[in-house]
Amino acid sequence: MKVGIIGGGISGVSLASKLALMKAGGADIDITLLEAAPRLGGTMGSVVKDGYVIESGTNGFLDSKPFTLETFKEAGLEGKLLRSNDNARKRFIQRYSRLQRMPENASMFFSSKLLSWGGKLRLAGEFFVPQKKDGADETLADFAKRRLGEEALDYMISPMVSGVFAGDPEKMSLKSSFPVIADLESAYGGLIKGLLKKRNKKSGPAGPGGVLTAYEGGMGSALEDLAAVAVKNGAEIIKECPAEKVTKEGGVYKVTVKGGKTYEFDRLAVTCPSYESAKFLKELDGELSGTLASIPYAPMFVAGLGFNGEDMTDPINGFGYLIPEKEGRQILGALFTSSMFPSQAPEGKKFLRIMCGGDKHHELMKKSDDELLEICIRDVSDVLGIVGRPHMIQTFRHEKAIPQYHVGHSVKAAKIEEILKNYDGLYIGGNVLYGISLNDCTRISGEIARKIRESM
Ligand SMILES: Cc1cc2nc3c(=O)[nH]c(=O)nc-3n(C[C@H](O)[C@H](O)[C@H](O)COP(=O)(O)OP(=O)(O)OC[C@H]3O[C@@H](n4cnc5c(N)ncnc54)[C@H](O)[C@@H]3O)c2cc1C
Repeated sequence: MKVGIIGGGISGVSLASKLALMKAGGADIDITLLEAAPRLGGTMGSVVKDGYVIESGTNGFLDSKPFTLETFKEAGLEGKLLRSNDNARKRFIQRYSRLQRMPENASMFFSSKLLSWGGKLRLAGEFFVPQKKDGADETLADFAKRRLGEEALDYMISPMVSGVFAGDPEKMSLKSSFPVIADLESAYGGLIKGLLKKRNKKSGPAGPGGVLTAYEGGMGSALEDLAAVAVKNGAEIIKECPAEKVTKEGGVYKVTVKGGKTYEFDRLAVTCPSYESAKFLKELDGELSGTLASIPYAPMFVAGLGFNGEDMTDPINGFGYLIPEKEGRQILGALFTSSMFPSQAPEGKKFLRIMCGGDKHHELMKKSDDELLEICIRDVSDVLGIVGRPHMIQTFRHEKAIPQYHVGHSVKAAKIEEILKNYDGLYIGGNVLYGISLNDCTRISGEIARKIRESM
């Protein structure tokens, strides 16, 4: 059986790795991955410079879910995984131009300055808010206002949404973007009730949040190593080979790539961004292509900055911080990389990664990289007590960084599933439909690998 994979990000490479393991175990399967760019990884990639490991996108995954961890374990790469230290537990949100620690328990919550007393009482009153039972899709903002209050929306939920999706809570679908939160209400009647009931249940290897796990040399190396194992096990990976057209003839998918060459596959997994797959799937199915094209994306600008220790008064001891819009800054937040992963910065240096842009700030991306860099430096300077200029600067611009699951996303996903019933052996994977985290990507690729195995 010939299996094609279009897209060499974590979704495509983890799928190739799983299928190649099946091949090495004796399955009669040929695997070909087609990647448009000269390198694998998509938005995920690493630059190593002056002793810093600077990530263009994700800096790792949480080990509380098994999917990504198992992908690396199966490939024999577990030894190169890099666990964040305990500082990563300390997360902050900016309020009153200061870092307020995110409470981890009830006593921290009540003594925290993150919410006013009115806001805390309103949030605690969530216990008594009646359950919404109509099952209708709802924005994250409406959900938060209904159950937790406006202040919790502004100072907890909105920053969390920009931290995960770079998204706009006024547009995002609760059930598509944060299904775990939606389930707490539908299964237990509310968040506090659900969390109390789940408290005693067994969670992942490192508790419900898990340990942030990176990779020696960066996540870009992680993907190259995973791809190398897949190739060793018999997969073929072809870079600089963008798919331009997909058709189906006699049960076979024909993928025409730039330059005109055509590949034939019995099974085809598409793991690239939806705005790209919409183009090459147009001839196969206009409705499928149109639905994929309608999924919006948020832009992101990432600045990695290295400072001498004495150039910053804040010890930057923790995971990092997120910034509520009401604080009037233009950046979304910053990660304290040298605190979580000391080996990713030279000794004695402080290393920040600052995120800017998102679904609420498309206009910001009209600025040049230099202008955005200055915004990043300005917005962290007073809060972290920065007095000097960074001696190491590395920036990344992603015009379409993260798909946004707006209200109505589940209808699009259901429509795509319905259309796919007409195309036996065609799979839409990646982060476009059912989750954007690395764990979602590897879980979805695992499901596609299982379907392919069952169809053999
Ligand atoms: C700044 C940022 C920070 C993030 N932080 C985290 C985090 O901390 N934790 C976390 O879990 N997740 C994080 N994410 C999300 C996560 O990194 C992504 O959801 C994930 O990497 C997506 O992987 P993918 O393989 O599905 O898609 P992509 O990475 O988009 O890969 C798709 C690939 O398809 C290729 N392609 C496109 N068109 C074609 C074509 N025509 N033919 C062939 N190939 C094509 C592209 O070149 C690309 O390599 C972050 C994302 C960003 C942008």
